[in-house]
Amino acid sequence: MRIDLHTHSSVSDGTMPPAMVIERAAEAGLDVVALTDHDSAAGWPKAAVAASAVGIGFLPGIELSSITARRGVHVLAYLADATYPPLVDEMQRIVAGRDGRLAAMVDALAAAGISISAEEVRRHAGDNQVIGRPHVADALVARGIVRDRSEAFELLLNPGRAGFVVRYAPETRDLVRLVTDAGGAAVIAHPWGRGSRHVLDAEVLADLASAGLVGIEVDHNDHSAHDRSVLRETAADLGLVVTGASDFHGAGKTDHDLGCNLTAREEFERLLAAAAAHAATSGRQVPSFTAAATVSGDTS
Ligand code: AMP
Ligand code: ZN
Ligand code: FE
Ligand code: FE
Repeated sequence: MRIDLHTHSSVSDGTMPPAMVIERAAEAGLDVVALTDHDSAAGWPKAAVAASAVGIGFLPGIELSSITARRGVHVLAYLADATYPPLVDEMQRIVAGRDGRLAAMVDALAAAGISISAEEVRRHAGDNQVIGRPHVADALVARGIVRDRSEAFELLLNPGRAGFVVRYAPETRDLVRLVTDAGGAAVIAHPWGRGSRHVLDAEVLADLASAGLVGIEVDHNDHSAHDRSVLRETAADLGLVVTGASDFHGAGKTDHDLGCNLTAREEFERLLAAAAAHAATSGRQVPSFTAAATVSGDTS
């Protein structure tokens, strides 16, 4: 079983529409794929339809922004009720924070002598509501100010650079609780990736586990082989599920091809079991994992 639990579409900062992400996942030989756009569940319906058309399993997810000790931490929420009012409110606050930040980033870049408009950035974001730094990067590339998204982050958009502006996000522990209350399973995305590696030690992860955290994304290209083995041990100590994923963004991020990291079948089953337990406790009406369709011709 080839299982990839973290991908982005053009609903957030990926470059392909949800259905195309799923089609590419099938072409890449995946049996199960999760769509996990930043702070939005808007891609789920189209992804689910596409998955049943191409006959692969579809897991609905959302990658939510949070903060621990002033560092950004991404939380993958699987199978949560995205209509749970407190979760809807929190997602709206996060997305509103992105909008406020866009204006502030445009001002900060202007102060550094680079003039791009919020309109221009919105144009690069297409019709989605989740606007992020990658879209600012695209506007800078289109102007010929930088070569690609990576250079835009390195020179202008990363913390400490002229165009960087902080934005609102909830505390990680509160967000883990919220996802759990929404009947979902929370998994920390790339715990030792760029922003969060210095704050998510074993002690903090243990505290998050006590708040309902189900797993950690160990196999991610932000992690070295050494990081992975340490994180795998921590997960075992804390009884956390170990996931692996590509964090595919289409053409928006290189070295993140679909299926480049995978989740083991038994870990996936533990994830589904934890989500089912949270759904039962919460009493929420949660979306379901749609397993691969039966092989065509099989009428049983
Ligand atoms: P934001 O959510 O607006 O703060 O932007 C963060 C997102 O930017 C991350 O989730 C990545 O998808 C993307 N990102 C971060 N660093 C880079 C980079 N060096 N190149 C391309 N995309 C990046
Ligand atoms: Zn992203
Ligand atoms: Fe992330
Ligand atoms: Fe991601």
